[in-house]
Amino acid sequence: MKKKVLFVGEASFLKTGYSTYHLEIMSRLAATNKYELAELGCFADRNAPEQHQLPWKFFGNLPNKDNPDEVNLYNAQEVNSFGAWKFEETLLQFPADVVIDIRDEWMCNFETKSPFRKNYHLILMPTVDATPQNPQWLYTFMQADSVLNYSDWGKAVLDKAGGLIKTVGTASPGTDLKTFVPAQNKAKHRQSWGIANDAFIIGTVMRNQTRKLYPDLIKTFAEFLKQAPKELAERSYLYMHTSYPDWWDLPALIIEHEVSHRCLFTYKCKTCNMVAASLFQDGRAACQRCQRNDAMLPNTHFGIERHEVAQIYNLFDVYVQYSNSEGFGIPIVEAASCGIPVFCVDYSAMSDVVRKLRGYPIAVSSMTKEPNSGCERALPSSQDLIDKLLKHAQLPETWRNKKGFEARKGVENYYDWNKTAKVWENLIDSVPTKDKSVTWTSPADIHTPVRDVPAYLEGEQFVQWALINVAGRPDLCNSYIAMRLIRDLQWGSTVESTVDRLDSELSSQGVRDRRKNFGKEDILRLLKALCDHRNFWETQRVERLVSH
Ligand SMILES: [Zn+2]
Repeated sequence: MKKKVLFVGEASFLKTGYSTYHLEIMSRLAATNKYELAELGCFADRNAPEQHQLPWKFFGNLPNKDNPDEVNLYNAQEVNSFGAWKFEETLLQFPADVVIDIRDEWMCNFETKSPFRKNYHLILMPTVDATPQNPQWLYTFMQADSVLNYSDWGKAVLDKAGGLIKTVGTASPGTDLKTFVPAQNKAKHRQSWGIANDAFIIGTVMRNQTRKLYPDLIKTFAEFLKQAPKELAERSYLYMHTSYPDWWDLPALIIEHEVSHRCLFTYKCKTCNMVAASLFQDGRAACQRCQRNDAMLPNTHFGIERHEVAQIYNLFDVYVQYSNSEGFGIPIVEAASCGIPVFCVDYSAMSDVVRKLRGYPIAVSSMTKEPNSGCERALPSSQDLIDKLLKHAQLPETWRNKKGFEARKGVENYYDWNKTAKVWENLIDSVPTKDKSVTWTSPADIHTPVRDVPAYLEGEQFVQWALINVAGRPDLCNSYIAMRLIRDLQWGSTVESTVDRLDSELSSQGVRDRRKNFGKEDILRLLKALCDHRNFWETQRVERLVSH
């Protein structure tokens, strides 16, 4: 019997980072012919035509737009967009031995609480991008049977949680080693992009979002120009492949630091698809080829192709990742794959990646605590970056080439999809096979909620009693959920949007939630709903998988 393996993600045929990871791993696992594979694709329709190309079973998560009841049910809770409302139904159609999720904690924690939890081996690979990790997240990771990591740095953080998280290794994303290759002839390549061969280009490919430190990077570049020998300063540029308008006001920043004549951006024409490097020309500019006013900075909706990004990396002399933390940092590896030496802030996954790529770690000057998540974020030392850039720029050419060669070598050693897929294959093979009679075809586990609540119970005793007698879940008595209910009862209030699914209080957006009154009646209602949910799906399971 082949192991049944279910991947839950965004849909492997989309273009997001998570999707790419799924596609690369699942296609290699499918090629072994050792497993029965399926995918729950959260951002795709059940009728998505792309699924017919996949060598595995596909389940779409989006509601039928023409069915208002379905749309309302889907919209009732944010967690449904991550697959929560379709998870149990999918498992009844595909009773998996192994469930795999590589997303953030708030996207996958429903899989740790499913009524079917005991029937599958759960493997999580969460993005660990900072320390300390919130106790709510650690509790979720503790519920998994195995935990893989994006980086060795992330693994080390989870290993510090008292050995309670079953970390089993690192399965970093690989890179496309054939698309991201060093340019055959850099001088000729630059010429075709209208860039002088002797230019010194400091490049970055980062989305224009809060944690990417664009203001600091632009300020540091201005300072670099002041400290560099005149000969070097006069041919130095900062190339930012990013979007605008978006989070940071890039034109205001390059004007503030008087470097607008030294900053390059990528423009792509909406009409003729021409991709070009240019000084800043506003959010919309005239296309260099067709002259229409349709050239824009690319963004997530209007992206550019991978081979075009590879061409952009190949314009750079060095690559800089200047962000306060990263769960991984795919562009760092892509740049290195093109033979570009990398400079990364020495914090989070970047600390690990930059060393594997034999790049330059940028010293951290201070750490600052982020509200809501409680995580530490890094502020890099701009002088350290300037010193390292000056040193590198003034190395003899053969030495600089050697650094680029080492970067490429590091990618081949550590970020090869074939090697990453092998980590998954070995892990899945090591999962013990359980007899179906103790998992999917076991007798129904039904609980009848006790209705008479003893009036003398208060606080912790009340919550424990309700978990056992109303929810029928003695296993939750020492859980994060139990602690939260005890505290909220004591306070008489709770966080409004998350309590109904007995979830973490931290939202993905870090938005401050409203609080609402909370008492014993609320706990009884929530735990009764938890019990009803379990009874409903257990009944379904026995009817559909056991009765015949
Ligand atoms: Zn055009």
